[in-house]
Amino acid sequence: MVDNLLASLGVERSAYTMGSHPVHTPIDGSRIASVRLDTPADVAAKIAQARQAFDAWRAVPAPRRGELLRVFGEVLRRNKQALGELVSWEAGKITQEGLGEVQEMIDICDFAVGLSRQLYGLTIASERPGHHMRETWHPLGVVGVISAFNFPVAVWAWNTTLALVAGNAVIWKPSEKTPLAALASQALLQQAMREHGDVPQWLSQVCVGDRAAGLALVDDPRVALVSATGSTRMGREVGPRVAARFGRSILELGGNNAMILAPSADLDLAVRAILFAAVGTAGQRCTTLRRLIAHESVRDEIVARLKSAYAKVRIGHPLQGNLVGPLIDKAAYEAMQNALSQARQEGGKVHGGERRLSDEYPDAYYVSPALVEMPGQTDVVRHETFAPILYVMPYSDFAEAIRLNNEVPQGLSSCVFTTDLREAELFQSALGSDCGIANVNIGTSGAEIGGAFGGEKETGGGRESGSDAWKAYMRRQTNTVNYSRELPLAQGISFD
Ligand code: NAD
Repeated sequence: MVDNLLASLGVERSAYTMGSHPVHTPIDGSRIASVRLDTPADVAAKIAQARQAFDAWRAVPAPRRGELLRVFGEVLRRNKQALGELVSWEAGKITQEGLGEVQEMIDICDFAVGLSRQLYGLTIASERPGHHMRETWHPLGVVGVISAFNFPVAVWAWNTTLALVAGNAVIWKPSEKTPLAALASQALLQQAMREHGDVPQWLSQVCVGDRAAGLALVDDPRVALVSATGSTRMGREVGPRVAARFGRSILELGGNNAMILAPSADLDLAVRAILFAAVGTAGQRCTTLRRLIAHESVRDEIVARLKSAYAKVRIGHPLQGNLVGPLIDKAAYEAMQNALSQARQEGGKVHGGERRLSDEYPDAYYVSPALVEMPGQTDVVRHETFAPILYVMPYSDFAEAIRLNNEVPQGLSSCVFTTDLREAELFQSALGSDCGIANVNIGTSGAEIGGAFGGEKETGGGRESGSDAWKAYMRRQTNTVNYSRELPLAQGISFD
């Protein structure tokens, strides 16, 4: 099955049969491929090739660079079904989520095409007569992309489309858990490059590897920008190492996202939003809803309604019409069980969270999503456990709810459900949520590509995707031109 998908997506058979690194599907735990891992020396050689590609690509006019992304978007549209299915096999996402990820790739391609004619700088009034000033944006060089298992293709596309339009070359180090989706995405981009016809060799490359391959990108001064998505643990190592060589980084790290449920909230809407945000992708999204801060007047009702909604969620094979697929691996399952036992010790009352379908799939890890009533925001709640656990905590006044929302180390996504205009506005004000994303009457997950995506504090501070996130992939230059016959100095200085 996976072999057929890979072949139809244009991946050479040797790339997924000849290596020593096994790839397992979380669907039933079976081995679906073996890939070769790049060593740090391989990565260094690819960086040298990327640097050559950059030298040629930066001279191609930006709208012509955009044309590559237009073609790539078309190639993705033609291959959406197969790539989406491959994502399901490798990452365990349900059909709609696999397809949705490919749709995000298509959307960001469209965005990048428009952007290719809008890499605008400023003109600036000069204080000197006969002078003008302006700001121009230039390509950076080689961009390294390190991505996580849970968005095996979209995160690369967010970075790569903008980086390419900006005139850079890209090297991608995908998660060692999801190299097949990476090889397939790269094959599709190569197909687009052939159709475009004007693209230097080595403009986009993949390094399959683990932490060591990632560090080879991180430490190499020829890599101008490292965009790294993954755990805060990873970012804590990557950020300082890139900074130590004065490189640039975009860090997209862990989240611990909350919803404040106010007394005036539309509970029907909230139940649907909570279910999707807390349970979708088996709780393995960076924006997954992990904390529900419910006003004490609605807390019991929401817990009761969620318990009945959770009981109806279909758990099982992600390509067979279910809503919740498997966890990525055994380690994820164990981390979930450890968090649940810590929650019990800290006074939590746990509903759900047990292993499911172990008879049918002894080597896979399906779980029922857990709902945990907590007496307050204890240690376990402040930690991101990458699994479907929703902690529910009460609050009595809105200021306290905002304090709880902000009182965790992470700062990615947040939302409030309220029909009180004052609460909604306060939540999105400087006195409100401290997160990169703050929504009203919509859940924490499922961002659109048009906005800048990312978060504060231990989430890393990076921004990707829409708005002006493209600026992170370019260098800003300030230009002054003297068109007079004099040489007036700034600040009125005389140097005669
Ligand atoms: P992970 O940190 O284990 O791995 C992420 C990537 O980093 C992998 O490619 C891995 O090989 C690489 N890596 C790990 N240590 C490294 C090091 N020291 N140097 C260089 N590379 C290194 O994360 P994961 O388990 O794949 O993904 C889940 C985590 O990612 C969660 O914490 C989730 O919140 C986060 N995430 C964040 C975002 C976001 O946009 N903020 C998006 C997706 C996932």
